[in-house]
Amino acid sequence: SAPGGSDVVARLTRWADDFPTPGVRFADLTPVFADAEGLRTVVDSLAEAGRDADVVAGIDARGFLLGAGVALALNTGVIAVRKAGKLPPPVHRQSYELEYGTAELEISAEGIALEGRRVLVVDDVLATGGTLEAAAELLTRCGAIVVGAAVVLEVEVLSGRERWKHGPLTTLGVV
Ligand code: AMP
Repeated sequence: SAPGGSDVVARLTRWADDFPTPGVRFADLTPVFADAEGLRTVVDSLAEAGRDADVVAGIDARGFLLGAGVALALNTGVIAVRKAGKLPPPVHRQSYELEYGTAELEISAEGIALEGRRVLVVDDVLATGGTLEAAAELLTRCGAIVVGAAVVLEVEVLSGRERWKHGPLTTLGVV
């Protein structure tokens, strides 16, 4: 069986063609997370990548589900890296390029200490890598030390891995 629980991921992932835009093949991990064995397997496998971390950052929105589980497995806290406009000010903000236009990620600038913290960044899918890289840039600008990233699925053809510059990048499955 494949390492890191990719069997259960392969079995339960629902693929949607042309979503959210034509030409995109969307990996919907909802059935993986809805399955007790699936959730346990992916959370524990992602946590393996974060042994050095003392806090986990989960990316809006499916990274929140995983991030909280991984944080519990590692006995750390979790920080939500949010899409723009969800958090009350003050926030730290990072813009990044999308295929068409730009997007922004934010983290709260008050109430969480990031200076010197060793952060594992968690998300569901690595596509172009723009989101993961922007999250790591944002956390680094806030004084955190990004010790790596862990995602469930990597869409290899989009070369997101080449964009990532912040330590080990663990993926449980490659499509
Ligand atoms: P990217 O910045 O291109 O790596 O896109 C990553 C973000 O978009 C992640 O938060 C994913 O949840 C989502 N995403 C991008 N492409 C896909 C896909 N083919 N299937 C599922 N989610 C995707």
